[in-house]
Amino acid sequence: MSAVKLLGEPIAAAVKEAVAARAAALRGKRGIAPTLGLVASADESAQIYAKKIQKDAAALGIEVALSTLASTATTAHAVALVSALARRSEIHGILLQTPLPAGVDAAKVAEAIPASKDVDGASTASAGFAALGRAGGYFPATAASVLELVKASGVSVAGARALVLGRSAVVGRPAAFGLLSMDATVTVAHSRTRELADRVREAEILVVAIGKPAFVQEAWVHPGALVIDVGMHRISDAARAKELYDFDAARLAAIEAKGSALVGDCHPAVERVAGRFTPVPGGVGPLTSALLLRHVVAAAESSAP
Ligand code: NAP
Repeated sequence: MSAVKLLGEPIAAAVKEAVAARAAALRGKRGIAPTLGLVASADESAQIYAKKIQKDAAALGIEVALSTLASTATTAHAVALVSALARRSEIHGILLQTPLPAGVDAAKVAEAIPASKDVDGASTASAGFAALGRAGGYFPATAASVLELVKASGVSVAGARALVLGRSAVVGRPAAFGLLSMDATVTVAHSRTRELADRVREAEILVVAIGKPAFVQEAWVHPGALVIDVGMHRISDAARAKELYDFDAARLAAIEAKGSALVGDCHPAVERVAGRFTPVPGGVGPLTSALLLRHVVAAAESSAP
């Protein structure tokens, strides 16, 4: 029996519809225009990404105030900028778009964002709310996507054995705490974990966020497990693509025609053993910006009248 694909797009569409309705209600009933203060470097790719966030936000009735940091900016510059944004009552959420300029320590700058405006859960205060399972902070949008997909999967989480592979501040750690708050029995694995394949095999819920293409092997995965793959990598080497998709002639033909393939942190053949899985692309990715914007609208709703 083949696994059920958990697609991010339909969930994102429902989230966006609800966010747009909440944004319209804020404007109509309270005269508030929900606004994200976006801090990005002047780098071309950062600006392209910032424009995309602006476009996505505008489609839902959310405004974006873009502040651009010059390539010479320092941590002190960025802290002053973020502190000024934090004081402005018409800015409801603040997002630091990484990578910031080389001279800016993003972790230090994040501390200048109050938890009530930290819509991408970047500060230690936000991490504390997530770790303690308390209301008052926002999860990083990528971790929030993982948790949303777990909820949408219909899998019973309470008491289930969950393994989160990766312990980064943006994905692994907050996803693990979120699963713990959902009453899963959570293990966090990382580069120093021994007998990793055995730990993976125990997991009924597997979240993979390690940044290594096709790392988790089919033979490691618990049959029927829910697998959430956060990674995304482009494979342009034809021989490597052939090796990865050898089991799927149709996909291999499509990849050969296109010249490259996208692959997650799990080997694509993991879907043969999983019960439910997020495809790459199309799983976690489409949800993250919708959830970030949901956080902005929630922050605007919670703002002082
Ligand atoms: P990261 O900060 O580089 O963290 C990687 C984690 O994986 C670390 O905890 C590391 O362990 C662990 N790890 C690395 N190699 C390992 C190995 N061989 N065995 C076991 N654990 C290993 O990465 P990240 O920012 O969390 O991102 C993870 C993935 O998610 C990447 O593929 C990234 O592209 C993707 N991502 C996607 C989105 C999205 O919106 N879809 C957003 C963010 C990230 P140590 O802590 O021991 O070093």
